[in-house]
Amino acid sequence: MRTVADLRKHIALWRKGEVRVGLVPTMGALHQGHMALVEAARAECDRIVASIFVNPKQFAPTEDLGSYPRREAADLEMLRSAGVDLVFIPAVDEMYPPDFATLVRVSGLTEGLCGAHRAGHFDGVTTVVTKLLIQALPDIAYFGEKDYQQLMVVRRLARDLDIPVHITGVPTVREADGLALSSRNVYLSVEERRIAPNLARVLRNVAGALAEDSSAIAREAARGAAALQQAGFAVEYLEVREAGTLAPTSGATGSSRVFAAVWLGKTRLIDNMPIVPAA
Ligand code: AMP
Repeated sequence: MRTVADLRKHIALWRKGEVRVGLVPTMGALHQGHMALVEAARAECDRIVASIFVNPKQFAPTEDLGSYPRREAADLEMLRSAGVDLVFIPAVDEMYPPDFATLVRVSGLTEGLCGAHRAGHFDGVTTVVTKLLIQALPDIAYFGEKDYQQLMVVRRLARDLDIPVHITGVPTVREADGLALSSRNVYLSVEERRIAPNLARVLRNVAGALAEDSSAIAREAARGAAALQQAGFAVEYLEVREAGTLAPTSGATGSSRVFAAVWLGKTRLIDNMPIVPAA
């Protein structure tokens, strides 16, 4: 379906029966991380809608909107074989007609971490996700923990706007060497790909150290950032935050996570890990 009207018509037909509808929003260039969201939907829902939309509003002018990988035919094949019932692929004009004038903004949660470094990014995300949720009106929508801040922000917007949807988070899918799957990994050169798994390794080490000594946030964050630099990354941030509120925390607890964003050349990578206190 390429128009909101067709999407709505189709879902309304389903709604004549007692069906539970799941939505999996994506920007395409699909990989096994996206497929984990589809699998989670398949386990709970009778019908699955996936969307593919490279949302221009969440890219700053200096970012990679133009070069973002687009692979519609291959994506459709993956979604079909994974049991997705309907794929919504709107054109930019369908989502944002020329006189489009509305912005959905979540304050607080969007201000730190990636929000502090990507001006306007979360406003773009929250605007498009609100539209997708209202367009498809799913019972459950699925988001990856890979983009943990985004997951928390989407949960808040659904709650604040009384959108009757349950937001389910799905654990991060990783390569065998620990690198979190991302559509942007295709940008990495052979040398950068060799360095990339160090991001997960360092975050795991920081989380492990803080599980042992919850008071050592400042020391371990500095040590982690230095280790990332040593490995060849330019570090944007490495921070420990409370998992539910994303507020800075002075003592790592069972509900804290460590978050990082780094650059390898022109490619920006993010990852995060829970801090699980030793029993
Ligand atoms: P994207 O197409 O990158 O916007 O991602 C679409 C959805 O897939 C978001 O909810 C992401 O958090 C999720 N996702 C992306 N990569 C992964 C991964 N490696 N593991 C789990 N979920 C992911």
